[in-house]
Amino acid sequence: MNEEYSTKEFEEKYTYDGDDLGVTFDGESIFLRVWAPGADEVSVLIFENGDISEDKVQEEITMECVKNGVWQSELSSDYEGKYYDYKVTRGDSVSIACDPYAKAVGINGDRAMLLNLNKTNPEGWENDKKPFSGKKITDAVIYEMHVRDFTIDSSVNAKYAGKFLGVCETGLKNSGGISAGMDYLKELGVTHVHLLPIADYGSVDEHDENAYNWGYDPKNYNVPEGTYSTNPADGKARIYELKKMIKTLHDNGIAVIMDVVYNHTYETSFCMNKIVPDYFYRMTPDGKYSDGSGCGNDVATERSMVRKFIADSVKYWAEEYHMDGFRFDLMGLIDVDTMNAVREAVDKVDKEIIMYGEGWDMETEVSKPGILMANQNNADKLNRIALFNDELRDGMKGSVFEYDEKGYISNNTKNTKEVLNGVMAAPLWSDSPQRVINYVSCHDNHTLFDKMELANPGITFEEKISQNKLAALILFTCQGGILIHSGEELMRTKVDDEGNFVHDSVRAGDKVNSIKWDNLNREEYYDMYTYYKNLIRFRALHPSLRMENSEQIKKNIKVVQDDGVVQFYVNASGFEKDTKQICVIYNPSEDDVQIELEKGKWKLCCDYKSVDCDGKRELQDSVTVRKASGAILVQ
Ligand code: CA
Repeated sequence: MNEEYSTKEFEEKYTYDGDDLGVTFDGESIFLRVWAPGADEVSVLIFENGDISEDKVQEEITMECVKNGVWQSELSSDYEGKYYDYKVTRGDSVSIACDPYAKAVGINGDRAMLLNLNKTNPEGWENDKKPFSGKKITDAVIYEMHVRDFTIDSSVNAKYAGKFLGVCETGLKNSGGISAGMDYLKELGVTHVHLLPIADYGSVDEHDENAYNWGYDPKNYNVPEGTYSTNPADGKARIYELKKMIKTLHDNGIAVIMDVVYNHTYETSFCMNKIVPDYFYRMTPDGKYSDGSGCGNDVATERSMVRKFIADSVKYWAEEYHMDGFRFDLMGLIDVDTMNAVREAVDKVDKEIIMYGEGWDMETEVSKPGILMANQNNADKLNRIALFNDELRDGMKGSVFEYDEKGYISNNTKNTKEVLNGVMAAPLWSDSPQRVINYVSCHDNHTLFDKMELANPGITFEEKISQNKLAALILFTCQGGILIHSGEELMRTKVDDEGNFVHDSVRAGDKVNSIKWDNLNREEYYDMYTYYKNLIRFRALHPSLRMENSEQIKKNIKVVQDDGVVQFYVNASGFEKDTKQICVIYNPSEDDVQIELEKGKWKLCCDYKSVDCDGKRELQDSVTVRKASGAILVQ
């Protein structure tokens, strides 16, 4: 049905390269432009309200086909504040659709709004400064979190619980008076928050205050999600409040990354599919939607106007919302050329924006031959785009799919190589620390704390703490970019009402998902938070843990033991003033071990118990490293 879309003739005739699709405000005029090749008629329907239960058309304005299948209409600026849909006629078939390039929408994202975005900027927006400028992805410590999870728990008593404005609320404390929310993040010292999808998604009804979802079900790609605003029915609120959140985070030294989902859409009733039937998706030979994503469809990113749509969309977020980075969901379903086109578009706004994605190698029915996909096998063909290192993740804690499989931290020393590859930021598919995001857990699969219990039945609380600390010590002594799952530093657990660990909490609601801030009142939890916090600080103090290329890493890291117990030296002299070298030891075994040290005096900066960046305890000749723990020493 849609084979002609993949032909050279179609692409040549209908590829539009203007940067003005959607709504543009120009003096006294508002221009609307929509790409609808081959349509017989296209018109704009004007409504008073953004709610589709109000379906009275105030006016129908015909559009004119101007170029490459683009239809255009010019309205006076008196229409500002009105809502609109497109009506597309092809033969006997008439479709009503939202604008794929909509920048503002009404409740549930069903209808687009004519809104001048100049009126959505918070105070000081024009002087907004990016806190991470001058740094590289290898300097990043990224905190992956969900807007609602962060402040919805009653223990934090946020004014804007679960909202964009809750993320940036200052002065939040838990019941014990300990910092929570944004103040907590500042103290933790992370460089970025990475937000699970914040673009408009379709799985929750925006009328429902209690609805929960992660948001991997895109509806409007260029509009913030309504449930995270204080008023989803007001097209302006979600935009203003998201910008306000970003501005406040920036003012507090925290950069913002958004999780973007271009590999599939919520439903195939997606607006673009109504306007240009089946152009947006890959199809199987028997005419079904390809479903490599497992979400019912795969976006045909290799087609010229889909590629443009994605590049335009990411660039728009970078420019209009001052985003500091993007994380691409199931990037392995997107083609290499599209990802590089996105990089090029983003670079026009800010070359320092960081990009990374899930480079899994996945099956999908690509619509043309000769297309390379943005997966781990093609990592070296991606321009300044990093990939998640699942080799380190599974090496450390055991396969996320084999629940009972033990990882290196649980003394499965068969995984020593995977852990060392993480240390060097050199998994099988990469030769550059700029391409590697190291992590041990994220929103998917069991939390680290739950996985340790599943892999080690009967494990005690103390043993879990010990292994968790070892995991953190390993992670923060790896080269490459670092990501932690929010709450990993608070021994986060996701347990349902039956007492089972939840491996996929996408619909599990607040009780399972929320960050439980009152856990900080308990000594062991506060201690784990402190351990992470000080490891983050230690990493920030030592540029030699953040080398920029593989040549430096190979030259300056010397592994002296790799037989289960790991010991390596980082030559720090070329990277920092006060430190000559750093010695790192991992001991996952069930026995304490005595490890020899190169000659000279050493300061112990980290052991099984705590992290002391100043290294007040001095040692020489050897160090004893407790079972299931690690050590960091400097000289
Ligand atoms: Ca929504």
